[in-house]
Amino acid sequence: MKIWRIKAPSYRSSKEKANHNGSISFPYGLPGVKCCGTWSGCDLLGIDCPQELRDVTGLNDSWPLKPKRLDKLREELRRFEGFSGLSIHELSPGARLMPPTFKQPHHKDNDFLWPALEAPVVSLRVAALLSRICPDDFEAVPLPNTPDWVLIIIRAKSKPPIERRSDRHCKRCGRGNRVSNSSDFVVFEDMVPNAGIFCLDTTLHLLISDELKNYLSELDPSNIIFDLVEVQQN
Ligand SMILES: [Zn+2]
Repeated sequence: MKIWRIKAPSYRSSKEKANHNGSISFPYGLPGVKCCGTWSGCDLLGIDCPQELRDVTGLNDSWPLKPKRLDKLREELRRFEGFSGLSIHELSPGARLMPPTFKQPHHKDNDFLWPALEAPVVSLRVAALLSRICPDDFEAVPLPNTPDWVLIIIRAKSKPPIERRSDRHCKRCGRGNRVSNSSDFVVFEDMVPNAGIFCLDTTLHLLISDELKNYLSELDPSNIIFDLVEVQQN
Protein backbone atom coordinates (compact mmCIF):
# COMPACT_ATOMS: atom_id res chain seq x y z
CA MET A 1 0.00 0.00 0.00
CA LYS A 2 1.33 3.40 -1.00
CA ILE A 3 0.10 6.68 0.45
CA TRP A 4 1.47 10.19 0.30
CA ARG A 5 1.51 13.17 2.57
CA ILE A 6 0.81 16.50 0.89
CA LYS A 7 2.15 19.72 2.36
CA ALA A 8 3.57 23.15 1.65
CA PRO A 9 7.10 23.47 0.30
CA SER A 10 9.58 25.13 2.64
CA TYR A 11 10.00 28.86 2.17
CA ARG A 12 12.99 31.08 2.79
CA SER A 13 11.04 33.54 4.94
CA SER A 14 7.63 34.11 6.46
CA LYS A 15 7.12 36.88 3.91
CA GLU A 16 7.68 34.45 1.06
CA LYS A 17 5.28 32.04 2.75
CA ALA A 18 2.58 34.72 2.95
CA ASN A 19 3.22 35.76 -0.66
CA HIS A 20 2.44 32.23 -1.81
CA ASN A 21 -0.36 31.29 0.54
CA GLY A 22 -2.21 34.40 1.68
CA SER A 23 -3.88 34.13 5.05
CA ILE A 24 -7.15 32.86 6.41
CA SER A 25 -9.01 33.24 9.67
CA PHE A 26 -12.36 32.08 10.93
CA PRO A 27 -14.15 34.84 12.85
CA TYR A 28 -17.16 32.67 13.75
CA GLY A 29 -17.37 29.35 15.53
CA LEU A 30 -18.14 27.53 18.73
CA PRO A 31 -15.96 28.39 21.71
CA GLY A 32 -13.86 25.93 23.66
CA VAL A 33 -15.22 24.16 26.73
CA LYS A 34 -14.25 24.13 30.38
CA CYS A 35 -15.24 20.68 31.63
CA CYS A 36 -12.88 17.80 32.44
CA GLY A 37 -10.16 20.13 31.21
CA THR A 38 -10.22 23.23 29.05
CA TRP A 39 -10.03 22.29 25.41
CA SER A 40 -11.20 23.00 21.91
CA GLY A 41 -10.87 21.09 18.66
CA CYS A 42 -10.16 22.51 15.23
CA ASP A 43 -12.99 21.06 13.12
CA LEU A 44 -14.29 23.12 10.23
CA LEU A 45 -18.00 23.15 9.44
CA GLY A 46 -18.85 24.21 5.90
CA ILE A 47 -21.97 26.12 7.02
CA ASP A 48 -22.30 29.88 7.31
CA CYS A 49 -22.81 31.31 10.77
CA PRO A 50 -26.39 32.67 10.65
CA GLN A 51 -26.35 36.43 10.08
CA GLU A 52 -28.58 36.86 13.16
CA LEU A 53 -26.03 35.20 15.44
CA ARG A 54 -22.82 36.87 14.31
CA ASP A 55 -22.93 39.34 17.18
CA VAL A 56 -23.68 36.69 19.79
CA THR A 57 -20.90 36.52 22.35
CA GLY A 58 -19.53 32.99 22.27
CA LEU A 59 -19.92 32.58 18.50
CA ASN A 60 -17.48 35.37 17.69
CA ASP A 61 -14.86 34.73 20.35
CA SER A 62 -13.20 31.54 21.53
CA TRP A 63 -13.30 32.11 25.30
CA PRO A 64 -14.09 28.65 26.76
CA LEU A 65 -17.51 28.12 28.34
CA LYS A 66 -18.98 25.66 30.83
CA PRO A 67 -20.81 22.76 29.09
CA LYS A 68 -24.26 24.15 29.98
CA ARG A 69 -23.57 27.50 28.28
CA LEU A 70 -22.11 25.72 25.28
CA ASP A 71 -25.29 23.62 25.02
CA LYS A 72 -27.31 26.84 24.97
CA LEU A 73 -25.28 28.11 22.01
CA ARG A 74 -25.80 24.79 20.24
CA GLU A 75 -29.56 25.11 20.80
CA GLU A 76 -29.52 28.62 19.32
CA LEU A 77 -27.65 27.37 16.25
CA ARG A 78 -29.96 24.39 15.75
CA ARG A 79 -32.88 26.76 15.19
CA PHE A 80 -31.29 27.64 11.84
CA GLU A 81 -31.31 25.75 8.57
CA GLY A 82 -28.26 23.56 8.08
CA PHE A 83 -27.67 23.19 11.82
CA SER A 84 -30.94 21.56 12.91
CA GLY A 85 -29.84 17.91 12.78
CA LEU A 86 -26.28 18.37 14.00
CA SER A 87 -25.09 16.33 16.98
CA ILE A 88 -22.97 17.44 19.91
CA HIS A 89 -19.97 15.87 18.13
CA GLU A 90 -20.57 17.82 14.94
CA LEU A 91 -21.04 21.04 16.92
CA SER A 92 -17.88 20.29 18.85
CA PRO A 93 -16.02 22.79 21.03
CA GLY A 94 -13.82 24.98 18.85
CA ALA A 95 -15.59 24.05 15.57
CA ARG A 96 -15.17 26.92 13.10
CA LEU A 97 -18.05 28.16 10.97
CA MET A 98 -18.03 29.90 7.61
CA PRO A 99 -17.44 32.35 6.07
CA PRO A 100 -13.74 32.78 6.67
CA THR A 101 -11.79 35.96 6.15
CA PHE A 102 -9.32 35.30 3.37
CA LYS A 103 -6.49 37.53 2.26
CA GLN A 104 -5.36 36.61 -1.25
CA PRO A 105 -1.69 35.85 -1.85
CA HIS A 106 0.58 37.93 -3.98
CA HIS A 107 1.19 35.00 -6.38
CA LYS A 108 -2.04 34.31 -8.22
CA ASP A 109 -1.11 31.15 -10.12
CA ASN A 110 -0.63 28.54 -7.37
CA ASP A 111 -2.73 25.37 -7.33
CA PHE A 112 -2.32 24.78 -3.62
CA LEU A 113 -2.41 27.42 -0.91
CA TRP A 114 -1.57 26.62 2.70
CA PRO A 115 -2.87 29.59 4.69
CA ALA A 116 -3.58 27.36 7.73
CA LEU A 117 -2.67 23.82 8.68
CA GLU A 118 -6.24 22.53 8.73
CA ALA A 119 -7.53 24.44 5.71
CA PRO A 120 -5.90 23.92 2.32
CA VAL A 121 -7.13 26.14 -0.48
CA VAL A 122 -6.99 24.84 -4.06
CA SER A 123 -7.36 26.10 -7.62
CA LEU A 124 -10.54 25.30 -9.54
CA ARG A 125 -8.78 22.70 -11.69
CA VAL A 126 -7.60 20.83 -8.58
CA ALA A 127 -11.09 21.10 -7.04
CA ALA A 128 -12.56 19.66 -10.26
CA LEU A 129 -10.11 16.74 -10.15
CA LEU A 130 -10.95 16.00 -6.50
CA SER A 131 -14.68 16.11 -7.30
CA ARG A 132 -14.11 13.56 -10.06
CA ILE A 133 -11.88 11.15 -8.10
CA CYS A 134 -13.05 11.37 -4.47
CA PRO A 135 -16.24 13.47 -4.19
CA ASP A 136 -17.24 12.01 -0.80
CA ASP A 137 -13.98 12.78 0.98
CA PHE A 138 -14.18 16.56 1.12
CA GLU A 139 -16.34 19.63 0.83
CA ALA A 140 -15.42 22.61 -1.35
CA VAL A 141 -16.38 25.94 0.19
CA PRO A 142 -16.31 29.17 -1.82
CA LEU A 143 -14.15 31.96 -0.41
CA PRO A 144 -15.55 35.49 -0.16
CA ASN A 145 -14.58 37.65 -3.18
CA THR A 146 -12.21 34.96 -4.44
CA PRO A 147 -13.44 33.19 -7.59
CA ASP A 148 -10.13 31.45 -8.45
CA TRP A 149 -9.76 29.19 -5.41
CA VAL A 150 -11.93 27.21 -3.00
CA LEU A 151 -11.40 26.13 0.58
CA ILE A 152 -11.22 22.36 1.03
CA ILE A 153 -12.71 20.81 4.16
CA ILE A 154 -11.51 17.23 4.45
CA ARG A 155 -14.26 14.89 5.64
CA ALA A 156 -12.44 11.55 5.47
CA LYS A 157 -10.34 10.65 8.49
CA SER A 158 -8.01 7.78 9.32
CA LYS A 159 -8.93 5.39 12.09
CA PRO A 160 -7.10 6.03 15.34
CA PRO A 161 -4.21 3.69 16.20
CA ILE A 162 -5.48 0.42 17.67
CA GLU A 163 -4.54 1.25 21.27
CA ARG A 164 -6.77 4.33 21.16
CA ARG A 165 -9.89 2.77 19.70
CA SER A 166 -11.38 1.90 23.05
CA ASP A 167 -10.89 5.42 24.41
CA ARG A 168 -13.60 6.53 26.77
CA HIS A 169 -15.23 9.84 26.11
CA CYS A 170 -16.54 12.32 28.67
CA LYS A 171 -20.33 12.19 28.46
CA ARG A 172 -20.62 15.89 29.12
CA CYS A 173 -18.18 17.40 26.59
CA GLY A 174 -17.19 14.45 24.37
CA ARG A 175 -13.50 14.67 25.18
CA GLY A 176 -11.54 11.44 24.69
CA ASN A 177 -8.47 10.65 26.74
CA ARG A 178 -6.27 10.59 23.69
CA VAL A 179 -3.39 12.97 23.81
CA SER A 180 -2.69 14.62 20.51
CA ASN A 181 1.01 14.56 19.92
CA SER A 182 2.22 16.28 16.80
CA SER A 183 5.39 14.19 16.67
CA ASP A 184 3.31 11.01 16.60
CA PHE A 185 3.33 10.63 12.81
CA VAL A 186 2.98 6.86 12.50
CA VAL A 187 0.57 5.23 10.07
CA PHE A 188 -0.44 1.59 10.46
CA GLU A 189 -2.04 -0.23 7.56
CA ASP A 190 -5.38 -0.73 9.29
CA MET A 191 -5.71 3.01 10.02
CA VAL A 192 -5.90 3.86 6.32
CA PRO A 193 -9.49 4.48 5.17
CA ASN A 194 -10.84 3.76 1.70
CA ALA A 195 -10.48 7.36 0.59
CA GLY A 196 -8.64 9.46 -1.97
CA ILE A 197 -7.81 12.24 0.47
CA PHE A 198 -8.05 12.08 4.25
CA CYS A 199 -6.52 13.48 7.38
CA LEU A 200 -4.65 11.52 9.98
CA ASP A 201 -6.58 11.15 13.23
CA THR A 202 -3.50 11.69 15.37
CA THR A 203 -1.63 14.60 13.79
CA LEU A 204 -4.17 15.94 11.24
CA HIS A 205 -1.59 15.61 8.47
CA LEU A 206 -3.17 15.45 5.01
CA LEU A 207 -2.69 12.17 3.18
CA ILE A 208 -3.70 10.99 -0.28
CA SER A 209 -3.95 7.66 -2.07
CA ASP A 210 -1.46 6.64 -4.70
CA GLU A 211 -4.24 6.83 -7.29
CA LEU A 212 -4.99 10.47 -6.48
CA LYS A 213 -1.26 11.23 -6.40
CA ASN A 214 -0.96 9.94 -9.98
CA TYR A 215 -3.88 12.04 -11.19
CA LEU A 216 -2.56 15.12 -9.41
CA SER A 217 0.93 14.63 -10.83
CA GLU A 218 -0.53 14.81 -14.34
CA LEU A 219 -1.67 18.34 -13.53
CA ASP A 220 1.84 19.22 -12.31
CA PRO A 221 0.39 21.40 -9.54
CA SER A 222 2.35 24.25 -7.98
CA ASN A 223 3.15 25.03 -4.34
CA ILE A 224 2.85 21.47 -3.06
CA ILE A 225 5.21 18.71 -1.93
CA PHE A 226 4.43 14.99 -2.02
CA ASP A 227 6.15 12.87 0.64
CA LEU A 228 5.91 9.10 0.47
CA VAL A 229 4.60 7.80 3.81
CA GLU A 230 5.98 4.62 5.28
CA VAL A 231 2.94 2.51 6.16
CA GLN A 232 3.65 0.10 9.04
CA GLN A 233 2.26 -3.44 9.19
CA ASN A 234 0.02 -4.14 12.18
ZN1 LIG B 1 -15.80 16.71 29.90
